[in-house]
Amino acid sequence: MPDQRERTSRSPRAPRAPRPAPAPGQTEGSDRSAASQPTDACACCGRPSRDTVPLFSHRELRVCFRCVDWLVLQRDRRLEGRGGGWTVLGAEPVLLVRDVGRSVSHYERLGFTVERQAPTAAVVTHDRSLRLHLSETEWPGRAGHGAVHLVVPDADEVARAWRAAGVEVVGPEDVDGFFEGAHTDPDGNVIHVRAVAPSPSA
Ligand SMILES: [Zn+2]
Repeated sequence: MPDQRERTSRSPRAPRAPRPAPAPGQTEGSDRSAASQPTDACACCGRPSRDTVPLFSHRELRVCFRCVDWLVLQRDRRLEGRGGGWTVLGAEPVLLVRDVGRSVSHYERLGFTVERQAPTAAVVTHDRSLRLHLSETEWPGRAGHGAVHLVVPDADEVARAWRAAGVEVVGPEDVDGFFEGAHTDPDGNVIHVRAVAPSPSA
């Protein structure tokens, strides 16, 4: 995984050569190494930036993190005006487990970060919008019946990362029009990884 902190510590205005067009057969985004990632002109504000992401449907266009944050802020403000009079900023699943220490280690292998950990409960996070609560239960048979759908832009990418970490993943494959993979944690909780469309690099 590219280290974002290391990348942002450099000057974002350092001039660089324009990003070359991908060679035939090579897809945008296939080069994920931070060191070789050139500076792009943001398709929104026009400023050069090393920290950009491609648009979902026009992957030749890249937008800088600052402009993405602005879009998310506008989206959030608009959503705050809806919802039938009450506002939700997120949903945080609670997974029941038998051994919090074991579960924390497992979710770290999946790429989560431990936000806090107590003797019988923990919160693990990934990116800004995913927080999972791991809650220990001693009730026989209660742990491990949970399931979470993670909606992601690229289900193949997640499956590759998890397999590289040595955990089992089923798929991804077409499931009812979604491109979906699944991983079962040590207690039997199922983490579905669902993309709205097949991977652009598939
Ligand atoms: Zn921008």
